[in-house]
Amino acid sequence: MTLSDRILMGPGPCNPYPEAVAALGRPMLGHLDPEFIALLDETCDRLRAVFSTANALTFPVSATGSAGMEAAIVNFVGPGDTVVVGVNGVFGGRMVDVVQRTGAKAISVDHEWGQPIDTQRMLDAHPSPAMYAMVHAETSTGVESDIAAMGANKGDALLVADCVTSLGGVALQIDEWDIDIAYSGTQKCLGVAPGLSPLTVSPRAIERLIPVPPSWYLDLNMIADYVTGGGARAYHHTAPISMIMSLHAGLGAVLEEGLDNVRRRHQEAGDAVKAGMVDLGFELFAAEGHRLAPLSSIAIPDGRLGSLSEADVRGRLLTDYGIEIGGGLGPVAGKVWRVGTMGHTARQRNVTTLLAALGEIID
Ligand code: PLP
Repeated sequence: MTLSDRILMGPGPCNPYPEAVAALGRPMLGHLDPEFIALLDETCDRLRAVFSTANALTFPVSATGSAGMEAAIVNFVGPGDTVVVGVNGVFGGRMVDVVQRTGAKAISVDHEWGQPIDTQRMLDAHPSPAMYAMVHAETSTGVESDIAAMGANKGDALLVADCVTSLGGVALQIDEWDIDIAYSGTQKCLGVAPGLSPLTVSPRAIERLIPVPPSWYLDLNMIADYVTGGGARAYHHTAPISMIMSLHAGLGAVLEEGLDNVRRRHQEAGDAVKAGMVDLGFELFAAEGHRLAPLSSIAIPDGRLGSLSEADVRGRLLTDYGIEIGGGLGPVAGKVWRVGTMGHTARQRNVTTLLAALGEIID
C-alpha cells in the first residue's frame, strides 16, 4: 500500500479534490501577474458563493484557519472591549485565548462537551458586549450550533463565526444569518490542502476596524483593495500562488457539483458513519439533534475493543488499511473517535471501507 492510497477520515485534512491536487502543479506565476490577479479575483468570487455573501471583503488569508481566527478578532476588539465567547470544545477555548491576547475582556460561556452553544446563555452573559464569538461546527466534539439564532439576537454587537468545519459541508448563510465576520480553513469540507483561511467581513464590521491592530500581517486595513474592490492592489505580501490556484480549482469543483449536492453528499456520508458505528456497538457522543454531518464523534463503550486500546485500533486502521481517523481531545481523549467525511472523502465507498476494516479489527 502506498501513501497515496490513504483515506483521510480524521478531523482534517481530508483527501483533496483531484482538481485541487492537479492545480498545485500549475506553472508558477508572479503574484502581480495580471493572470494571477484575475485568478485571485475569481477565487474571491467563488468564496462569496460558498459563504453565501455579497461581502466585498472576502479573501483567503495566507495561513491556516487559526490565522483567520486571529484576523477576525484582533482587527475588531482591544483593551476596554468585552467579548462573549461560547465554549463547547477546544476551538471555542482557542478563541478565548486570542481575545485575551488583544487586551479585551473575554467572558467564556462554558458548555458541557457534546452540547451546542445556548444562545440565551450567551445573551445573558453581558448586556452590551462589543462582540459575540462562537464556533459553528466544533471539530473536537462533532457538534453543530445554531449560529442563525445568535445572528438574529446579537443586537449592536459584532458576531464572529468559526466556520472551519462547516464551510462547504453544512448549510451556512453569512448574509441571511447576519454573521459579521466568518473564517474557515481549506483542508476540511472545501477539499483542498491545509494552508489558507477564507475570511469574509461585513460592511458593518468594516466600519469598526481598529486603525492599527497589534498584528502587522493580519492587519485588514493593509489589504484595503479588498475593501473597495477593483482599484490598484497595494503590495502586502507575496501570495502563496500555488495554494490559491489549488483553492480556485477546489472551489470550482464544489460549485460545479452544486453546493446543495455537495452538502447532501456530506450529510449522507456522515449519516452512514453514524449508523454503521452504532451497528458495530459504538455510541454517538454529540447531543441528538446537534450532530455535525462532516465530523462524527463516536463514543467507545468500555470493553468494546476487547484487549485492544483505542490507539491500537487507530494504528491498525492506518498501517493495515491506510485509513486515518482521529482520536479524542482534552477531556474525551481515549474515549472518543472523530471520523471525518469531508470534501472528496465524503463518499459512501470510504465509509463502507472504514466500517468493514473496523469490523475485521475488532470482531
Ligand atoms: N477552528 C476549528 C473549528 C478547527 O477545527 C480548527 C482546526 O482543526 C481550527 C479552528 C484551526 O485551524 P488550523 O488548524 O487550520 O489552524
